[in-house]
Amino acid sequence: MTRASHIFETKIPNGPSGDPVLYCLSQKTGEALLLDLGDLSNLSNKEILKVRHIAVSHTHLDHFIGFDRLLRVNVAHFKPFELCGPPGLIKNVQGKMNGYCWNLLEPGQIQIRVHEVDPSGAVTSALISSDHAFVPVSERRDTLKISADDPPLPTRPAACAMILEDGTRVETIVVDHGTPVCAYMLQSPSRYYVRDGALDAHGLEAGSWIRELQMAMSDHDTGRIFEINGKSWQAGDLSGKILNRVQTKPLAYLTDFIFSQENLSRLQHAFTGVDKIFCETNYRTTERHRATQKKHLTTKQAALIAASLGASELETFHISNLYADRVDLAQDEAQEFFQEFKSMPADELSRALDAELHEA
Ligand SMILES: [Zn+2]
Ligand SMILES: [Zn+2]
Repeated sequence: MTRASHIFETKIPNGPSGDPVLYCLSQKTGEALLLDLGDLSNLSNKEILKVRHIAVSHTHLDHFIGFDRLLRVNVAHFKPFELCGPPGLIKNVQGKMNGYCWNLLEPGQIQIRVHEVDPSGAVTSALISSDHAFVPVSERRDTLKISADDPPLPTRPAACAMILEDGTRVETIVVDHGTPVCAYMLQSPSRYYVRDGALDAHGLEAGSWIRELQMAMSDHDTGRIFEINGKSWQAGDLSGKILNRVQTKPLAYLTDFIFSQENLSRLQHAFTGVDKIFCETNYRTTERHRATQKKHLTTKQAALIAASLGASELETFHISNLYADRVDLAQDEAQEFFQEFKSMPADELSRALDAELHEA
């Protein structure tokens, strides 16, 4: 696992050319989020049991076949989970459930909340549960709790599809792959760290109250009272004396769409300022015609997108089996392009984008 400069540890369990899955483990809560549901055989049951939210790009076989394993592991533990994805996801989940015989379930054993996001950013939610024979029951979405202290909400067409336990917002826009596909950005709340020497300076002793104070600040509960060594403190005041607030850096997960002006504009409108991008590169740039035909990206196109969104890091995955023996060549090619485009002045980058759009 690689420790990133944000709230998640991430890993791509199937490697750069296997079925798409990005496993994101929250350092704050220990909860895991899955981006896409390709084959999950490379995740342990223990890892899968940490997953409470799944963000699906689309339901092509290689992005959704892991649903059965997710279900298999969760059913015995009565664990509810929540999925979001493009239009049609509610029917896809219902169809999966109807593929099995379920006569021995106990009340409340399977509860799956599904959120479909349409291209306008509207979200439709349903509960698919064993108590209702897996017939979707429409749900009104809870009002999402966003504080003024959090990063600003996306303007449509981006939508906030789910909020994780650690406060991370799963934001999405729909792009075109011949079928609607959700591109995702994870936006986490600020984190709080103890400033060097601050405890000594205020005569405070370290203890479990520090973690509670960090949590209170993350929850914007600034008025909460802390009793430490017989003295009362308000969370906001105490935090100002000893904690530093650090903004977390957003992550994006982009896969399965065609390199078009429309897709590019949507991404630039909603995801500019993202820090790290996980992006598919099905093809090397010499196979651009195949990418266009299959509505996928090349190494060069992924690098152009990452540079134009201002990302500092690009990690590539979903590399075609064409390069099975030399996946590294495709990965290196994407990195070389990314370094080149990242250091270009804005006008030069925009000319490079236009030239590639013209070719694609
Ligand atoms: Zn795919
Ligand atoms: Zn696809």
